[in-house]
Amino acid sequence: MTAPRSSPPRKQGARRTAGRTPPLPSPEEGRSFSRRLRAWYRRNARDLPWRRTRNAYHILVSELMLQQTQVSRVLDFYGRFIARFPDLESLAAARPAHVLAQWQGLGYYARARNLHKLARRVVHEGPVTAYGATLPTEPHELRTLPGVGAYTAGAVASFAHEKRAALVDTNVARVLQRFFAPALNPRRARDLTRLWAIAESILPRTGAAVWTHNQALMELGALVCTARVARCERCPLRTTCGSAKPGAGIRKR
Ligand code: SF4
Repeated sequence: MTAPRSSPPRKQGARRTAGRTPPLPSPEEGRSFSRRLRAWYRRNARDLPWRRTRNAYHILVSELMLQQTQVSRVLDFYGRFIARFPDLESLAAARPAHVLAQWQGLGYYARARNLHKLARRVVHEGPVTAYGATLPTEPHELRTLPGVGAYTAGAVASFAHEKRAALVDTNVARVLQRFFAPALNPRRARDLTRLWAIAESILPRTGAAVWTHNQALMELGALVCTARVARCERCPLRTTCGSAKPGAGIRKR
């Protein structure tokens, strides 16, 4: 990634950030950002199995597997895991060794252990509906479960229940920082808090639009505005991005 420019050119939507907390985007800036992002997503999104379901448990499994792990690697594991443990009840009833066996090769095994604990807690202590044990729907309730942080809670609430919930992982933080606040450093806790505030301020009004908006933010960070290179020439946000540069393949910090 290139070093931050000392005096970035002023563009429509670019924010002055040096030395102070950047302002939140105006409602019009947020709407414009989200509209372009969602239109791009509809044309460019990858077809991934966890995007074809609203099953909260399946979405949770995919989100936990995707932490620190590439999509191509998760695809096989996800299908096998869901086939072996199709719902919270079957996972809760499994022996720990059998759960870990399905996770074998994916790494970061604390994720599997936490998922198993979570399933047991929800099945034994949580609400049971006509369809069986269910996960909570609100982000603050999801966050009380083992292994569920702010990002995962937002992802499950948004992708399974179409809640107006923000989510910020490293991909999303990078896109928001480059676009709205180039002076922030997502690795600094205070700056990350500001990026969460920006993410919340630009959520669309309806849950269905939030679903697409959040998926699109993550997809843009994975395919276009990546950690290694920002492909601004292909980016739907380039005309008002605070970090865009003319020309292809600019390297970023
Ligand atoms: S214009 Fe470039 S830096 Fe800005 S969000 Fe798009 S890819 Fe990232």
